[in-house]
Amino acid sequence: MNDSSPRSRALFERAQAVIPGGVNSPVRAFRAVGGTPRFMARAQGAYLWDADGQCYIDYIGSWGPMILGHGHPAVLAAVESAAREALSFGAPTEREVELAEALVALLPGMEQVRLVNSGTEAAMTAIRLARGATGRSYIVKFEGCYHGHADALLVKAGSGLVAGALASGQGASAPAPTSAGVPPEVVQHTLVLPYNDCQALADVFARHGDAIAAVMMEPIAGNMNFVRASREFMAQARALSTQHGALLVIDEVMTGFRVALGGAQSLYARDIPGFAADITVLGKVIGGGMPLAALAAPREIMRHLAPLGPVYQAGTLSGNPVATACGLATLAQISAPGFYEALSARTQRLVDGLRGVAQAAGVPFSADSEGGMFGFFLLDQLPQDYASVMRTDTQAFNRLFHGALDRGVYFAPAFYEAGFVSAAHSDADIDATVAAVAEVLGG
Ligand SMILES: *Cc1c(COP(=O)(O)O)cnc(C)c1O
Repeated sequence: MNDSSPRSRALFERAQAVIPGGVNSPVRAFRAVGGTPRFMARAQGAYLWDADGQCYIDYIGSWGPMILGHGHPAVLAAVESAAREALSFGAPTEREVELAEALVALLPGMEQVRLVNSGTEAAMTAIRLARGATGRSYIVKFEGCYHGHADALLVKAGSGLVAGALASGQGASAPAPTSAGVPPEVVQHTLVLPYNDCQALADVFARHGDAIAAVMMEPIAGNMNFVRASREFMAQARALSTQHGALLVIDEVMTGFRVALGGAQSLYARDIPGFAADITVLGKVIGGGMPLAALAAPREIMRHLAPLGPVYQAGTLSGNPVATACGLATLAQISAPGFYEALSARTQRLVDGLRGVAQAAGVPFSADSEGGMFGFFLLDQLPQDYASVMRTDTQAFNRLFHGALDRGVYFAPAFYEAGFVSAAHSDADIDATVAAVAEVLGG
């Protein structure tokens, strides 16, 4: 199956000699699906070309950031001109202010922003800030939600941690922590509950209410493919946090500016009066493909952060001038009227098309999407939690993945990862994708 990719195979061999597992982030290694990861050479619009010159329609989009597709001219122009001015100052710049102003204007309830370099850093800072601001220790998180790789959050996290847990014989009921090298005492204040379980959430507040600093969640859990927080669950997380003086930390690293201009929060705010996060964690799309992430919160919470307050946080490259230029240029494009309507329609066309061919082939299938983010499952019903996601027939998924890859369709190489459509995907790209999947399922 990899005979058509000799250069990728050779590069993977070379890489494995000098890079652990041959990759710089585990999911890239194709461990969940087997086979050789494609080494990428260039990209344009909705397409990727690998080292062997093979072209793919890209549904990973660098795991979320590339909402405009690759090589958007306005973004490239902004990056190029910023790079000529300076690669880094380690001093404040006007562009950081502009980006913070833009984010605050788009996110209800958020008044200040701290820019960092990765979602991991942003999430790590968010929990430190929540603990510092409340003077409490416990963090509530949910099974299958990934918040980056800070020690305290590596408990029943989704994404690349799933493969590790499966390989080590830990299933959905894995004991905490999910990574070696994290001492149990580091996660002793991390309480992990099933996603969408209102009763478990009520119970944990009844037991530990006055010691909980934060409830942290992905509003649409994209690291166990695509599982929405139910309206009831989100409303309850908001109400219990307020009632007990805990902070609600919404991790929108994946969903922010991906599912809607105001993030997933704006969707919940339609149904839950007065809904807003206490701390919002951002990344991926806000950097447009450059290393940039952020946390945002009301002033009352942010005043605890250094240099104003005692919660320490810093970064040599934070607010980098090239990354902020890339983020601002991306935000300008996605703020255009009608952007999300068009993107949603394109994503919907993909999901409907896939559902149609799966039904025709008699394959169990369910799918969901919002804005430019989608998930499909080889399950009859959309799962509501991690345990249900894990019931996926992994062999069937892997056959589908490799069949699609061989036909030039690059889906995420694991059943527990979400997919992404960009503004550069055309109806013809979507239809070609659906036709390829029909061939795989029918063959
Ligand atoms: C990707 C992701 C992170 C981690 O971001 P990195 O930039 O990879 O460190 C955190 N939370 C969520 C929800 C993510 O999808």
